[in-house]
Amino acid sequence: MNQRLSKSSALLLDGHGRRVEYLRLSVTDRCDLRCRYCLPRDYRGFQQPAHWLSFEEIERLVSAFARLGLKRVRLTGGEPLLRKDLAELAARLATLPGIEDLSLSTNGTRLQTQACRLRDAGVSRLNVSLDTLDRSRFAAITGRDALPEVLAGLEAACAAGFRLIKINMVALADTDDGEVDAMTAYCLEHGFVLRLIETMPIGEAGRRAGFVSLRPLQERLRARYGLVDGLVPGGGPARYLVSPDGSFQIGFITPISQHFCETCNRVRLTVDGQLCLCLGQNDAIDLRTPLRAGITDAALDQILIEALLNKPARHEFQKQPQQVLRFMSATGG
Ligand code: SAM
Repeated sequence: MNQRLSKSSALLLDGHGRRVEYLRLSVTDRCDLRCRYCLPRDYRGFQQPAHWLSFEEIERLVSAFARLGLKRVRLTGGEPLLRKDLAELAARLATLPGIEDLSLSTNGTRLQTQACRLRDAGVSRLNVSLDTLDRSRFAAITGRDALPEVLAGLEAACAAGFRLIKINMVALADTDDGEVDAMTAYCLEHGFVLRLIETMPIGEAGRRAGFVSLRPLQERLRARYGLVDGLVPGGGPARYLVSPDGSFQIGFITPISQHFCETCNRVRLTVDGQLCLCLGQNDAIDLRTPLRAGITDAALDQILIEALLNKPARHEFQKQPQQVLRFMSATGG
């Protein structure tokens, strides 16, 4: 690590003493699925391409964050694999000084053709969102009969050499235990880490989906599989239950029933350059305007340092569920 990086690595401390070292970078707000808790089927309010940050602008912003101590970047969206030449962007970010980990969240529909290129470009870890293994239910949840593509994409990811693939499954009001069992068996068979996620009231679709606490399901799974509390490396917000021999883990991401804001180490950047300091708050800081006005590196660093000081202590999903107007696909999940 060069001297400038080690000296500045404390600069991304927020006003509550949390070190922010993780950026969720949305490379598009568009998606080829319409998950009913994420994006309304008839949604038309996407950003125009002229407003998207270019690869050069993204690289400049990530470099600035990295100068200040950022270590990890996750490419997300929308569906990131819809962004043309994503592997080229990945290769640029993976080699930036200070960036130790480049990962990707995807719905998997286009992984089959892109997995190898992304792996070669330096993407080291993969999260695939998959809520069910039932083909007709998949179509009902996402608006598209695309389960075979996603499963083929996962196979391609394994063949490309991705290890520690995580499957993110949103627990919906009508998700039954049989579906969770089927997903558990599938993940066991393929060596994937399963994570169950509580629905958040983000955007109008997220609010309409309703909320189901994961706690009862957690206790049922603990009893059924004899799972115990465990730790899985990665530093994320999931709490894990593991089998006694350590061969299998299920993670629970419970932003509502058991929030983890006190350990939040991340910020989000939208495709049009808005810096979102908290997933559960509407405020954002516009970075695109200063960037396009020719801001110097020193002034950009200062904007980031000051922005971080205002990172909210926690989300307000319970007190103000109507607050987050942005869709999850726009913020970058
Ligand atoms: N398209 C990519 C994917 O599918 O992973 C990245 C973006 S997607 C918005 C990221 C994650 O957010 C997905 O796992 C999705 O299920 C989750 N998500 C979207 N809306 C949500 C909500 N209201 N509550 C909880 N999770 C949500």
